[in-house]
Amino acid sequence: MDSLQSLFSLRGHVGFVTGASSGLGVDCAAALAMAGADVALAARRGDRLDKLAAQLASEYGVRTAAIQLDVTSDGQIDVALARARRELGLVDILVNNAGISPTGRAESLPRATWDAAIATNLTAPMMLAQRVARGLIEAKRPGRIINIVSIYATVASSIYRLSAYTAAKGGLLNLTRQLAVEWADYGILVNALAPGWIPTEATEAGMAKGNNRERMERSTPLGRLGQPEEIRGAIIFLASEASSYVTGSMLAVDGGYQAW
Ligand code: NAD
Repeated sequence: MDSLQSLFSLRGHVGFVTGASSGLGVDCAAALAMAGADVALAARRGDRLDKLAAQLASEYGVRTAAIQLDVTSDGQIDVALARARRELGLVDILVNNAGISPTGRAESLPRATWDAAIATNLTAPMMLAQRVARGLIEAKRPGRIINIVSIYATVASSIYRLSAYTAAKGGLLNLTRQLAVEWADYGILVNALAPGWIPTEATEAGMAKGNNRERMERSTPLGRLGQPEEIRGAIIFLASEASSYVTGSMLAVDGGYQAW
């Protein structure tokens, strides 16, 4: 690690980003590509993935693959990872980014809403992580797993009624720690990245309601919402040699929200 390049370069690595068709997933994929990794973009909306894959390949000179995937299907996960391996090589950087944030009063939350949030935000990251880890362990290769959690993995929301989401993200954060411990011997580092409030397709409408945006800005020490591209640095850090002694931790990219 004797140069900036060797600390942060991801050349020779293969990333796999779920939910890469919009929002923060686009920036997770762009960050990996920018640092030189080949990247598989996985999500349900194939047309969007094709466009992003072509754009990243031409902008950063990396190989990309656009792979249609519903993360709640174990069968589709197996097919998607096999395709990534065939087209790009063994995946050694997984970013579990796909997520949903359904709202509803806890006292009347439908079972189906709860199940969907747990399936997408907690079960799917586990199914993906175990398969990526298995591949790495078999190949005797180290790797990185980055789970996108949320400020709501550690605290409740005073703005939204998000019981299923907070439960799933809280679970994903502690799962991150458990996997980090279990896979440390294999050199597989597992960390969580916790974004604060960042406008995306999923969040913009809620932010625009009433005085939500103003409340969010007021409760964030930096006094503003984040921008999707502001998670890029944290992704590169957690995927690269720069974080070689970091595992089982959570990196907040939240304008200081959790600091007070
Ligand atoms: P988004 O809706 O723009 O992106 C989520 C992506 O996940 C979309 O591309 C969506 O299609 C995909 N997805 C959802 N279910 C899927 C499934 N079953 N299979 C495959 N793909 C699926 O939202 P975002 O704000 O970019 O969120 C990305 C991640 O960041 C989520 O995990 C979210 O919980 C987390 N997060 C976002 C914020 C924020 O303020 N934007 C804050 C904290 C955490």
